[in-house]
Amino acid sequence: MSFTNQEKSSIAPRRWALRGDLLDFTAAPAWGDTESPAVRFDRDHWLLIEDGRIVGRQAAEPDASWARKDHAGQLVLPGFIDTHVHCPQLEVIGSYGTELLDWLQRYTFPAERAFADPARSRAGAEVFLDALLASGTTSAVVFPTVHKVSAEALFEGAAARGMRLVTGKVLMDRHAPDGLRDDVEQAERDCVDLIDRFHGRERLAYAVTVRFAPTSTPEQLAMAGALCRADASLYMQTHVAENRAEVAWVAQLFPQARSYLDVYECVGLVHERAVLAHGIWLDAADKRLLAERGAQVAHCPSSNLFLGSGLFDWPGAEFNVSLASDVGGGTSLSLPRNLLDAYKIQALRGARLTAWAALHAATRGAAEALRLGGEVGGLSAGQAADLCVWDWARGPVAEARDAAARELHERVFAWMTQADERNLAACYVAGQRRV
Ligand SMILES: [Zn+2]
Repeated sequence: MSFTNQEKSSIAPRRWALRGDLLDFTAAPAWGDTESPAVRFDRDHWLLIEDGRIVGRQAAEPDASWARKDHAGQLVLPGFIDTHVHCPQLEVIGSYGTELLDWLQRYTFPAERAFADPARSRAGAEVFLDALLASGTTSAVVFPTVHKVSAEALFEGAAARGMRLVTGKVLMDRHAPDGLRDDVEQAERDCVDLIDRFHGRERLAYAVTVRFAPTSTPEQLAMAGALCRADASLYMQTHVAENRAEVAWVAQLFPQARSYLDVYECVGLVHERAVLAHGIWLDAADKRLLAERGAQVAHCPSSNLFLGSGLFDWPGAEFNVSLASDVGGGTSLSLPRNLLDAYKIQALRGARLTAWAALHAATRGAAEALRLGGEVGGLSAGQAADLCVWDWARGPVAEARDAAARELHERVFAWMTQADERNLAACYVAGQRRV
C-alpha cells in the first residue's frame, strides 16, 4: 500500500496500528545459526502504536478505536542504527584510487573545510539526515567536522525529525590542514557548550569525538578523556586500527603506548559508551580490553573493502560489534548493502555470516551496545516506534528469488543480498511517517 504526500506530511493519529510481517530479535543469535530462538517473526501481525511508542503486537485486527496502516505482505523491521557515518562526506563517496591516509588528504579534508560556513553545515545536515531516513536508518552515531556549527546543525536537524542521534564536534588539533584544526582550550569550551545545550535534550546525545589518534595532541586526548570521566553519560566516538599504514603511524607518534587502542585507553576514552570504528588490526590484548570495558567496534564493511583496509575478524570478536556505513569511505548509506558486504568479508575469511547475526547487529545489537536497548532496535512494547516497512522484493529477479525461498532464513538472507533503499516502502520515526 502506498501513501499520498498528504499522508506523509500529516501528523499521525495518537493511536494507530500497522499491519505487516514483523521481524526483530529477543537476544543475540548464535554465530552460524540459521535457525535461532532469538528471532521473532510474526507473519501478518499488527503493531500497536500510541503517542509514538509501541504498546503491543498481536495477530488479531485491532478494534475500531485504532487508526490503521495496512502493509500486509511487506516486511517490518526496526529502523536501522548506523553507528559510524560522516555527514560531510556525502560528496566524496566513491572517490577513486586511494587508501585511508591519502584518501583523507586528497578528498575528505577539502570537503570538510567547507562546513566552516554555517549555511553549508545546515544544508549538509538536512541532506544527510533525509538520506539516512531514505535508506531506512532512523538512529545514527555521526561525525560532523571540527567546526562547532556542523555539530549544531546535525543536532538541530535530528531534533526537527525526532531522530535518535549521537554526535559531537570533531577534535583535531594537529596533522590536518588549515581551516580544520582547533586548539585544546577552544575545543574544550565548544564541547562544554554543546553538551550543555544538546546532551540529553529530546533524543540527542553528545559524543566526545576524537577523529583519530594522529590528529590530536596528547594534551587534546587528555582533555577528551577528562570530559568522559566527568560525565559517564557521554558517548565517545573515534577510529581505531583501520589500516596498516595508519597503525604504523600511531606507533611512531605514541612510542610509549602498547598499541593503537592503548593510546585511547591511557586517557580514559575506552568505556561502555565508546564507539570505535573499524578495529581490523587489533591484537588479543586489545580485544580483551574492549570486552572488559564494554566498548563496541563499529564494523564498516563497504568502507573496508573499498579502501582496501582489511578483513574484520567478526567471529573472533569477544566485544560488541555493530554495523556502520562509514560513508564516504563506505560506498552506500544503505545498511542492507553493507550487510551484504559484511557477508562477503566473512566469506573471504572462510566464515559465514547469517542474516540473523547481520540484522541483529544493525538493530538490537547496536541498541544494546549503545545502552539504548529500551528505546530503539526492536518492535517491543515500550520502545519508540522507529520502524521501516520494506518490500520483500523489487523487480523480476528479486521477485523470482523471493518466491523460490522455502524457509525463513533463506528468504531473509536473499532479501539482505538483493535489497537496498529502493525496497523501502515507508519509514516511521517515533510513530511519525518520514519517508
Ligand atoms: Zn570513519
